[in-house]
Amino acid sequence: MRRRAFRTPLGGLLAALAALTWTTPALTQERRSVSLIVTGGIVVTVDADRRILSPGAVAIDGTSIVAVDRADQIAARFRSAEVIDASGRVVLPGLINTHTHAPMVLYRGLADDLALMEWLQKYIFPAEAKTVSPEFVRAGTRLAALEMIESGTTTYADMYYFEEAIAEETRRAGLRAVLGQTIIQFPVADAKTPAEGLSRAEAFIKAWRNDDLIVPAVAPHAMYTLDEASLKASRALADRYGVPVLIHLAETRAEVDGSRKDHGLSPTAYLESLGFWGPRTVAAHTVWMSDEDIAILARRGIGASHNPESNMKLASGAAPVLKLRAAGVATGLGTDGAASNNDLDMFEAMRQAAFLQKLQSGDPRALGAATALDMATREGARALAMDRLVGSLEPGKRADLIVVGMDAARQVPMYDPVSHLVYVTRGDDVQTTIVNGRVLMRDRRVLTLDAAQVVAEARAWAEKVRAAVGLSR
Ligand SMILES: [Zn+2]
Repeated sequence: MRRRAFRTPLGGLLAALAALTWTTPALTQERRSVSLIVTGGIVVTVDADRRILSPGAVAIDGTSIVAVDRADQIAARFRSAEVIDASGRVVLPGLINTHTHAPMVLYRGLADDLALMEWLQKYIFPAEAKTVSPEFVRAGTRLAALEMIESGTTTYADMYYFEEAIAEETRRAGLRAVLGQTIIQFPVADAKTPAEGLSRAEAFIKAWRNDDLIVPAVAPHAMYTLDEASLKASRALADRYGVPVLIHLAETRAEVDGSRKDHGLSPTAYLESLGFWGPRTVAAHTVWMSDEDIAILARRGIGASHNPESNMKLASGAAPVLKLRAAGVATGLGTDGAASNNDLDMFEAMRQAAFLQKLQSGDPRALGAATALDMATREGARALAMDRLVGSLEPGKRADLIVVGMDAARQVPMYDPVSHLVYVTRGDDVQTTIVNGRVLMRDRRVLTLDAAQVVAEARAWAEKVRAAVGLSR
């Protein structure tokens, strides 16, 4: 009977199953029980070999990935009460947004088509002075978390105020994040002085440093919004607790000109002269960088966050991504705050990162789809010093992954999944989002947030923002 069954593949499978189920109970017991299996899709691992498994599967137990393999191999080794069928879809590591200001989603579209300094000083800083509060930040974070879960972001790095409220909302939504409490020279909603900001940051670090999802950090805003003492104190605080530092760097030509005038040095060299650069540091933007500046970042092991959409919208410039990467600087992608983008869709960030380098260099090969995907996943993780935890689908890493639908007319046909992820996929093609082994969205339904309530609450806040800046309806 067994010999006859092996004449067809299906017969062979049935015989194998029968053998597993009935004739050798010991083997059945060897199929390890896990908490979740995602199976049947094209699994783009972004691992060291950039393996693509089709059909592939990911076995997850608790918070971790235990195996990534061909679907039949996973089926032979694992069983689970919960299985997500990803047939016809693409499974990949969750996207990593290395630079944003989550609550600023509430300023989305408030003031567009302006240069950075005018935009900041005439609109954003005044609006923030009148509206930022713990309640505002909570509502904004919930909206941002909803948008990130819906568009496949699983880890984000944030720089804002009342970061402890952002941490609570982020954790509740189930996302992973590096959250930096802002230190800035002028009075802001949560601190009248940089010293007060630093003590808030210290309390925040103490409260959250052992969390499984939240990494607390110090976020000195920029070298041009802080004096020397505050910059040094920010570094000292981060070193005392071994936490990351997030800072804006060389975003505009004006910042570099100002630094040369005030200090006789570029922003990067000035910070180097203060002993500011240290471990687990992410510099956002890095647009106006000399070769010496890039060498400093490389030597100090600083991560860079490239924000192509924000840089284009504010006409800040095109970051030297090719040179940064060639020098060995881990360069992730970011959306920046939604007030300068105007969304948190990391698929767009990948696409625009590729397009911008092609345009800038005059070479369509300059930054291809595979590199853009790397930057949004494994390299972003490296920039945040989290590459042992996330950034690729590999056993031992945290189970942060997404399932992307490929059924929209615009996605048909599909010859190359990586090309599709970068050049035609949009955030709303994401079907399922999993962080730390927990399903946050399944088939477009977000399970950790009440989407209708989050949206209604954000619209109510927009009325207050409108009134605060004197915007007519
Ligand atoms: Zn920013």
